[in-house]
Amino acid sequence: MDLLLPRRCAGCGSPGDHLCPRCRQALRIPPQRIHTRIDPHVPVWSLGPYAGTRRRIILSMKEHRHLEVRRLLGPVLVASVAHLQARGELVDAPVLVPAPTRATSARIRGGDPVSDVCVATGLPVSVALRHGRRVVDQVGLGVGDRRRNLSGALELRRRPAGPVLLVDDVATTGSTLAASAEALFAAGCDVVGALVICHA
Ligand SMILES: [Zn+2]
Repeated sequence: MDLLLPRRCAGCGSPGDHLCPRCRQALRIPPQRIHTRIDPHVPVWSLGPYAGTRRRIILSMKEHRHLEVRRLLGPVLVASVAHLQARGELVDAPVLVPAPTRATSARIRGGDPVSDVCVATGLPVSVALRHGRRVVDQVGLGVGDRRRNLSGALELRRRPAGPVLLVDDVATTGSTLAASAEALFAAGCDVVGALVICHA
């Protein structure tokens, strides 16, 4: 396939690698606590603002079916989890639970990118949540509409075996993380935090 479609960096478009050394540097920032407008009632950590290289990487992993980038982001998440554990902010053996994607979005994108990134970490993963009823795409909705759109919309497919670390690609208002934590808490699960690749 490389002969037909030359490899380009997902961050800057330069030919040669799926993610060039310079763009990998942009993913080296340690996770920082952020505060979203809708509070998921668990600590939220982000690897940096949704801008520049990180934004382009997210867009290509989501919209351009850049499956290789999802695999490369696995170790980035592993490093972040280890960093939080070393700082004493995160428990030893969390189960990664990807924030759910609407099924139609996932089909268009060639599988759910966040689940793929979680699986690429090699850490325990439980695809525990799904949309229980129809929800509209969150893009373009305000804070209140996002909360209403997702409130009570998520259901548990299976119970994660252990403390849960929610994972998502981009945190904007925090509505998806809040709805996810709410569904897990309601089922008696222990949610210890949320880790996002970027925050907008
Ligand atoms: Zn690059």
